[in-house]
Amino acid sequence: MIYFSAVFNIIPRYISEKEEVQKPIKHGVYKLKIHIYPDPILRAHAEPVENINKGIQDLVDNMIEIMYSTPTGIGLAANQVGKLKRIIVFDLNPGEDGRKPAALINPEIVIGEGEIVREEACLSLIDFSAPITRNAQVKVRGVDRHGNPMDIEAEGLKAICLQHEIDHLDGTLIIDYISSLKRALYKKRLKKDLKKT
Ligand code: ZN
Repeated sequence: MIYFSAVFNIIPRYISEKEEVQKPIKHGVYKLKIHIYPDPILRAHAEPVENINKGIQDLVDNMIEIMYSTPTGIGLAANQVGKLKRIIVFDLNPGEDGRKPAALINPEIVIGEGEIVREEACLSLIDFSAPITRNAQVKVRGVDRHGNPMDIEAEGLKAICLQHEIDHLDGTLIIDYISSLKRALYKKRLKKDLKKT
């Protein structure tokens, strides 16, 4: 899950399962929740999808539903809902009007150029955001929910979103981009916070 405190001018807050993700799931196949760091599934490598069957399409639908159930989520990777499949969903305009959800299965960055720095946050990381340097333009290749080949050329926020979500599929989180000292401080703070709850 990615969203941007710079855009929404807020420090992201963990959206608890109770508040946001226990909505009824239409197809009833999966009951999903967003997994939170340090859950080890966020560090696991997701496996390529071999067959796009009804189960995979239902998973895509459920992921889109969960993405929209969060106030500002613009992308979600399957690891974040506990499924080690190479699937991402995204919508750069997730408000009620003009939604255009997209899913990309087995996504791969084939071209990455330029540099962009932007404050990023992640719903799998409680109370954390940091400026992250990424490619400013990317070309991403994969297949859509029907198995049709799909090439996406993206820049700016969309390029950041795609890179953030594909990182998840390889077990990479935005805390891996900050200094080891800052990461250690975050882990310490998180431990303290988790003790309180
Ligand atoms: Zn994320």
